[in-house]
Amino acid sequence: MKNINFTCPFCSLLCDDVQLEIKKNSFKPINSGCSLLVSSLKKKINDQFSRVNGKKTNISEAITELSLMIKESKSTLFTGMATDIKGTKAALNIIDKYKCIVDHFSGDSYSKNLKSMQETGGFFLTLSELKNRADTIIIFQSTGEELPRLFEKYIFPKKTINNLKKRKVIFIGTKVPKFFYKNKKIINFEFIKLDSINLLNFLSSIRNSINFETKEAKDKRILYLLDILKKTNYGSILWNASEFQNDISDVIINEINLLIQDLNKFTRFSGLSLSASDHVLTVNEVLLWQTGFPIRTSFANGFPTHDTNQFSTKKLIDNKEIDLVVWINSFNEKSIVINKKIKNVLIGIPSHPQKNNVDIFIPVGTPGLDHNSHLLRVDKVVSMPLKKIRNISLPSVDQILNKVKEGVTDDN
Ligand code: SF4
Repeated sequence: MKNINFTCPFCSLLCDDVQLEIKKNSFKPINSGCSLLVSSLKKKINDQFSRVNGKKTNISEAITELSLMIKESKSTLFTGMATDIKGTKAALNIIDKYKCIVDHFSGDSYSKNLKSMQETGGFFLTLSELKNRADTIIIFQSTGEELPRLFEKYIFPKKTINNLKKRKVIFIGTKVPKFFYKNKKIINFEFIKLDSINLLNFLSSIRNSINFETKEAKDKRILYLLDILKKTNYGSILWNASEFQNDISDVIINEINLLIQDLNKFTRFSGLSLSASDHVLTVNEVLLWQTGFPIRTSFANGFPTHDTNQFSTKKLIDNKEIDLVVWINSFNEKSIVINKKIKNVLIGIPSHPQKNNVDIFIPVGTPGLDHNSHLLRVDKVVSMPLKKIRNISLPSVDQILNKVKEGVTDDN
């Protein structure tokens, strides 16, 4: 038995302050009760077999079958894409060469942020600024479930480097996060209760009051918030696109980004989107470095074509616009959409419950547990190195995909 320092790969906060107790291949956090960390480390691996049509097989055969499928496919979608930098690069080598399409588990919510960024631009915040500098933090409708330690570490930290004494935290949404309730005796925050539609009107009223200096704002909550905004020196606004009412979430995000711009006319404010599950930011950044285009891009014409509606996973699968879908998930057991009228492949962790329901299943390890890795943190300014800590011979996504690519090329 020994204790080790661990950088946690299970969400985009990538906490590097975790200590684990190791006994053989079982791990117990000793200084963090993060529920996502605890449940992720508890997963049992009962078998590590690949499967073709539900039958156990060896990994080489599964790889050969997948190479053949990609070669025969007229249109392949790579999605889920819950992987690290190397895994994304390896996928992209195939996607580009064999004219595939790429999307991500978080495509729906993340593409709303992308669209807003394309239309309005943005002022962005780092976690260090959030923790150490922000004197006002406004959180629009985020339970924090995607980033379980965000509130504890960055919004109500025990210490800040410049001993920040006064911080206003205002939560605007339908229901305050569990963390706020649990700690209400030791933290200070304000709660403005608004659903998505009222939130949109609220944002527009604040922007009107700032831009046209209207004195008519009668809503006391607006007047109160305006007063705080005017007194702020270093403000932060956080939101989670996936928690707004879906049909108006894009308009809300636009209003938030425009509000940040308005506020910067008289003080300093910046924003951070918390829609970061399954490392969409890592995948998206690699795509941007390599191709100049984000998720929801097709390479079918021999060059990248980006369209957030046309290349949505759900739409492509429901309408059978593809004949093969390759799901990648090296972190968790999130369920995948299976349409039996097309071929379905899952490159996933060995405990995935749908491994018998796809045409091909190939087991992979988790970055930062079973192999060394790099992932991007939620604020995109830090690429964290993660170390292998578990002794199980599970391949990484890039090892599998590099072999698949060799197989497709050999058969040509
Ligand atoms: S908050 Fe995220 S990175 Fe931090 S310990 Fe929990 S799951 Fe891991």
